[in-house]
Amino acid sequence: MRTPIVAGNWKMNGSVASNAALLDTIIAGVDANSAAEVMVCPPFPYLMAAGERIAGTKIALGAQNVASEVNPGAFTGEVAGAMLIDAGCSHAIVGHSERRALYGETDEVVAGKFVAAQTAGLIPVLCVGETIAERERGQTDEVISRQASAVIAAAGPAALAGSVLAYEPVWAIGTGQTATPEQAQSAHAVLRGLVGEHDGEVAQGLRILYGGSVKGANAAELFAMPDIDGGLIGGAALDGEDFLRICAAADGEASC
Ligand code: PEP
Repeated sequence: MRTPIVAGNWKMNGSVASNAALLDTIIAGVDANSAAEVMVCPPFPYLMAAGERIAGTKIALGAQNVASEVNPGAFTGEVAGAMLIDAGCSHAIVGHSERRALYGETDEVVAGKFVAAQTAGLIPVLCVGETIAERERGQTDEVISRQASAVIAAAGPAALAGSVLAYEPVWAIGTGQTATPEQAQSAHAVLRGLVGEHDGEVAQGLRILYGGSVKGANAAELFAMPDIDGGLIGGAALDGEDFLRICAAADGEASC
């Protein structure tokens, strides 16, 4: 049984005051005995304050991005994995579709970030997913396999043992158009199968999250699918009560 994870990607939202209120709601509502892991990913400037607020709880801290460079140097605007560790992070998202589409991150750049995150001691949360045009052309499996394979080639299949994958169809992110449980399950099975071609044990233990308009109202049916091990949550992560409903759905699935 894989332990599910619910990770909240706050994207470029929040303030000192609103983050404190959101975290207080989440801290008060997360079941200390929950079988699911819960993580929040605030913007960089708020990581340390968030880390202090969740100290002593079971909530983990993740970053939304990480530099592909490992050593300090002249990389204006970049944040190294070691700095994220310093700030209290255990995880870093790499390859979010917004980074790929808006900031030109290629499969190779994402693979470099994955390796850099692991080198620093972070657990990478590797995002993959197809656009609507790619889905309509029947290329979903090919695209997500290519994105995941770039990381396997750079890091080696064993590196996936300690990491997390997130299938996030681009057309479902922030649109309210959630993938059906069957569509998501099919993509997750492709990803697990791909890793399994390299290492069956790693594939079986790999947590693969679904992301794309997950809400309290649809989380349970997604998490019930055999290859879906929790969710990467955007919009609903900014609503403390709805985020808690998603956490409860993951907990319920883990306790089944
Ligand atoms: C995301 O940003 O990773 C995401 C899944 O967003 P949303 O839940 O809003 O679709």
